[in-house]
Amino acid sequence: MTVPTNPFDSRTILDGIRQWVEIETPTEAPDQINQLVSLVSEGYRGLDAVVERVSGRDGCGDHLIARSGWGQQEPGILILSHLDTVHPIGFLRRLPFSIDGDVAFGPGIYDMKGGAYLAYHAFRHLCLTGKRSPLGITHLFVSDEEIGSPTSRVLIEEEGRKAKYVLVTEPARDGGRIVTGRKGVARFDVTIRGVPAHAGARPQDGRSAIRELANVIHALEALNDLERGITVNVGVVRGGTRPNVIAEEAYAEVDARLPTPADAEEIVPKILGLTSRSEGVSVEVTGGVNRPPYVKGNAGAALFEHARSLAEEIGFELVDTITGGGSDGNFTAPFTATLDGLGVDGKGAHTHYEQMYISSIEPRTRLLHRLYQTLR
Ligand SMILES: [Zn+2]
Repeated sequence: MTVPTNPFDSRTILDGIRQWVEIETPTEAPDQINQLVSLVSEGYRGLDAVVERVSGRDGCGDHLIARSGWGQQEPGILILSHLDTVHPIGFLRRLPFSIDGDVAFGPGIYDMKGGAYLAYHAFRHLCLTGKRSPLGITHLFVSDEEIGSPTSRVLIEEEGRKAKYVLVTEPARDGGRIVTGRKGVARFDVTIRGVPAHAGARPQDGRSAIRELANVIHALEALNDLERGITVNVGVVRGGTRPNVIAEEAYAEVDARLPTPADAEEIVPKILGLTSRSEGVSVEVTGGVNRPPYVKGNAGAALFEHARSLAEEIGFELVDTITGGGSDGNFTAPFTATLDGLGVDGKGAHTHYEQMYISSIEPRTRLLHRLYQTLR
């Protein structure tokens, strides 16, 4: 293999991203994911890297781990990416890969095939030049991030604990911002059981689960505290059978975002402890924290400062932000310095107008490459 003249040429990199985008990979289509995993793993052929494929389970696709042939005995750099997207099969027809000026469209192009590809490209370039980085590099591609990483979490935590630094290729946001903090994510299911009755003939015999659900919704909504960044959202409700039947059952699905561990300790028990205010009606809440809050620790702050100075050398300003969106970075940040949002800039994650900015390809690939070269 030869080393290209501009190894960070954005059109060449975009061609590679396009190939990844054109294999549709919804989390629940393991065969599709595995097809992409095969393509990704072929890319390491002939390089000083060892590829390990972890078989998928529970309906999810395979995970892929690519390790540099050097530096694996000591804590090194872990790159975290996901290959799954939220878009169903066939979405590519609605949002085909296309280019309009500086914008490239496609399902998952921004979240996060673009970013995963940049880190992959930078690592392959490092191998091609034969200049080993001071630390070993491990790139983990998981197949189930979009549903909360149920089959990859253990792997992420295991690799995260071994690493000295974790770089996450989730998309940049709000004009190229990098992420040094993420709110914790908690999920809950509420099940309410009442007593059914004929709504017209025997209303006095009924105990409405839906009426109690209204109380529960009010109690949950009251936990919102935008000033502290605490959000509680009742996103799904179901219940009842017919208009003339007092509802026997009702359900709600709840999402909570909690900026700090202390917030989680305060809010989670309040949600789990919700009780019924209606006689004869029961309220049962299950769930809890799915991704712990990721707060910028000392090591994370130093890692960000280092990345900021590298970006300055490359010619762009790196600004950090805290986001309410969870990622696999939440799993590693409690114990290893983690920098997230290193992927491409763009907008419209999870939508029919998902897009990335082509101009963000070269500087961000260079940044990843420089991080590999300089972290020690
Ligand atoms: Zn993502």
